[in-house]
Amino acid sequence: MNNDHKIIVAIDGLSGSGKSTMARRLASQVGYRYIDSGAMFRAVTLFGLDSGCFTSPDDDPSALIESVGTLDINFEPQPDGTQHTMLNGRDVEAEIRQMRVNSMVSPVATIPEVRRRLAQIQQQLGKERGIVMDGRDIGTTVFPDAELKIYVDTPAEVRARRRYDEMIGAGADVSFEQILDNLVSRDKIDMSRAESPLRKAEDAVVLDNSDMTLEQQDAWILRQFQKAIERS
Ligand code: C5P
Repeated sequence: MNNDHKIIVAIDGLSGSGKSTMARRLASQVGYRYIDSGAMFRAVTLFGLDSGCFTSPDDDPSALIESVGTLDINFEPQPDGTQHTMLNGRDVEAEIRQMRVNSMVSPVATIPEVRRRLAQIQQQLGKERGIVMDGRDIGTTVFPDAELKIYVDTPAEVRARRRYDEMIGAGADVSFEQILDNLVSRDKIDMSRAESPLRKAEDAVVLDNSDMTLEQQDAWILRQFQKAIERS
């Protein structure tokens, strides 16, 4: 593969649709950097909860807005090839995946000032291209000029079942209904917010990965990647 010519791959879609897995695996296969934009919204949410400045969707967001510009959010590579989300120098990877963050992250992601600040950081990370970024507005708002855009659209029950198996496997105490309700309510908030709502970019390729194995998904995305490299 010609590694000189680097592109941006934007993978957007519904919550729990397997975007992150697909993005991470593609990035490692083609030697690109993987950026989990959802983890950034999760880190801001964790900050709001822990500092007490934004603990309910009805809270006044001004204190969180004031703090968001001062937060240091980045990713630290791990020996096993994954990366952990760092918030002000602290590894918060496990904490940002907890249910209390799941329940608050979409309300936090409706705050325009939070979105704009995180978009700036995301654009900076992609300045030299050679990245795969997953999220909700990457192909529409953050990188409208991305050479490859994927929109993952998989039924809610399939997504909830996968997330449930994953969380139970990690030892969490959750029910399938809790997970399904959380996914459906996050989708609703993400699709209906005023600032850069979740929607398919016009030039995105749509994927329903319900019946795909991981290997089939890897092969599919690699084909899309190669076509995008040839096109660009
Ligand atoms: O991808 P993940 O499910 O971890 O993202 C957590 C939440 O962050 C989403 O439910 C969504 O509300 C928000 N988000 C967003 N825009 C992005 C990435 C995530 O609004 N680009």
